[in-house]
Amino acid sequence: MPNGVRLEPAGCRRPLQCIVPPYMVEAMAHCTDPAIREGALVALAHCAAVRAVRDFAARMPTMMVAASPTGRKHRLVYDARGKDILPGKLVRGEGEPKATDTAVNEAYDFSGDTFDFFHSLFGRNSLDDAGMSLISSVHVGEADGRDRYLPMNNAFWDGSQMAYGDGDGTVFRGFTRSLDVVAHELTHGVQAFTSNLVYRGQSGAINEHFADVFGVLVRQWRRKEPAETASWLVGTEVLVPADTRRGIRDMEHPGTAYRDDPVLGSDPQPAHMKAIYTGPADAGGVHINSGIPNRAFVLAAKSLGGNAWETAGGIWYEAMLQLSRTSQFEDLARITAQVAADRFGAAARKAVRAAWKKVGL
Ligand SMILES: [Zn+2]
Repeated sequence: MPNGVRLEPAGCRRPLQCIVPPYMVEAMAHCTDPAIREGALVALAHCAAVRAVRDFAARMPTMMVAASPTGRKHRLVYDARGKDILPGKLVRGEGEPKATDTAVNEAYDFSGDTFDFFHSLFGRNSLDDAGMSLISSVHVGEADGRDRYLPMNNAFWDGSQMAYGDGDGTVFRGFTRSLDVVAHELTHGVQAFTSNLVYRGQSGAINEHFADVFGVLVRQWRRKEPAETASWLVGTEVLVPADTRRGIRDMEHPGTAYRDDPVLGSDPQPAHMKAIYTGPADAGGVHINSGIPNRAFVLAAKSLGGNAWETAGGIWYEAMLQLSRTSQFEDLARITAQVAADRFGAAARKAVRAAWKKVGL
């Protein structure tokens, strides 16, 4: 695994779940621009994420005290001030007025939207369904090994909180800019307390898939966009615009989010089982093969019609609760069809089955 240091640092209890996959960072490490290349090499060698995970145990008591069992959201936003020690300095707590810092307000507002989405649609009381505080750190940096810090080109969920970098300004911008990126990271949190899918191979790709599904659904719900006309791109706002890139992933057309980009290369996601990736990179293709169920979801959502967060989202939420740690694509296909039949009848089951069939499952 080319990026093993980053995703599964030695001695850490759980892998980090990042929005930017390792293959994008590797493409940047081959860039001729020395600044982009250096940033990518620092990200690959990696310090921030490792330290973040190591500090998890020390932070646990604070989080437990802050938990709200009453179904009211409780957000805490910290400023890591460009360094890699999490969470950093508390800069905005629940109910406190807007900060002057845009990233702080984005992390606060978008984590609130994600809480409201899961609470109002599924009756879920935060990530753990027991009022857990939503903790975000913004302006997270990465040590370059020479006592300097670079802005992190990523966002991740570390098992207890979200962390957002500011991006290098050349390829990536601030990672709090995108509601679907924030909701993606928080959905990793929901999964940790539900199916808790093992973060490698097909189970890991389902983990990434659910994070993309609910990441995008929170945005569609917030903007009231029906499935037929909605965007299915992930992370558009965190990329510096260029003709060769539209997002980090495209759920409807996997493998087309960026193409022949001078820095990022081309999106490697398959859209069908016949092109499934079976190599060791990216923890066995967790961000690569998620393209296959992502496409099935969009096909199902469009076929079911209306708002994707209502019918398709309801089916997928129930499936996320029912899957086990080692579930594979076939399990997800079977369970979503079953839930569709139980909740919405034979026509819904048929629509879901047809969607899976179109991606080879
Ligand atoms: Zn992810």
